[in-house]
Amino acid sequence: MTNFTRRQVLSVAAAGAALGISGPLEILPSALAQASEASPLNPKGQKFHKFKVGDAEVITIFDGSASREHAPGFVKNASVDEIKASLKSAGMPDDKVPNSFTVTVVRMGDRTIMFDAGNGAGRSPQVGLLHENMKAAGLDPMRLTAIVVTHFHPDHIFGLYGKDDQPLYGATEIVVPEAEYKYWTDPAVIETLPEARRGIARRVQASLPQWKTVRQVAGGAEVLPGIRAVSTSGHTSGHTSYRVTSGSGSLLVLGDLTSIPPVNLRNPGWHVAFDQDANLAEATRRKVFDEVVTTKSICTGYHWGMPGAGTIAKDGNGYVLVPVA
Ligand SMILES: [Zn+2]
Repeated sequence: MTNFTRRQVLSVAAAGAALGISGPLEILPSALAQASEASPLNPKGQKFHKFKVGDAEVITIFDGSASREHAPGFVKNASVDEIKASLKSAGMPDDKVPNSFTVTVVRMGDRTIMFDAGNGAGRSPQVGLLHENMKAAGLDPMRLTAIVVTHFHPDHIFGLYGKDDQPLYGATEIVVPEAEYKYWTDPAVIETLPEARRGIARRVQASLPQWKTVRQVAGGAEVLPGIRAVSTSGHTSGHTSYRVTSGSGSLLVLGDLTSIPPVNLRNPGWHVAFDQDANLAEATRRKVFDEVVTTKSICTGYHWGMPGAGTIAKDGNGYVLVPVA
């Protein structure tokens, strides 16, 4: 049984109106279920996935998917044909570059901690599904203990914004990397950014310094009991991953240390246009990958699709994701 959100229903109505169709559209629900639920990185259309790490319960939540047309320069040092070949060898369609957004939630005792906040509602009908999928997983988005942020790209923080750019989550604490906060809130940064990135800095500068619930943390710090910040800069200057420790178990929330598996796991040396300092991003990626291959740490990746979590194994010159059960 597929449940449709009001936004999806409206987009069906809009699609019907655009085609000059009115009245019940019986063929649309299955088409819509495909569009909103099954995607190359989430082929089963999972809304969430649960597993245990030590005594903690980890719940990965699907926030949606997107795709982009192939364009030279998306990966600075790989051709469109090479990207297509890598998608194909991963068993994915190669007509577009898929993307996907997965938020990690960890329950430790009576605490519920969410890592990153999704795209927010309204960017497109295919994203911003976080709240409805949290509810499907039995989580109340308004009863979180804290939200811990990896970096300030829109797909990770725009979900923090409510009406008039006030905090959507009210009094819930928002933990952010100090280096990332300093970078984006520096008024001088705006003119150093490409036009497409300036809007992020403007929005951050007009909001986060006023929000009373934001707490900055340094790399290496214990940010909450059992959760430590691990500086993983490169993708952005203050990009930070988090290590969650519970009993004998440990989880590494990588954020955007890597993009989708066919790009940056298969090819850790590929420089995706979104990496701010591509050489540093590659060095950081290789260092962390080699460590988690050895320690067999379970990791979550924001752009890994669903289940969005697993261990990483070496495979030739690259790496592969071994998804959690
Ligand atoms: Zn991202």
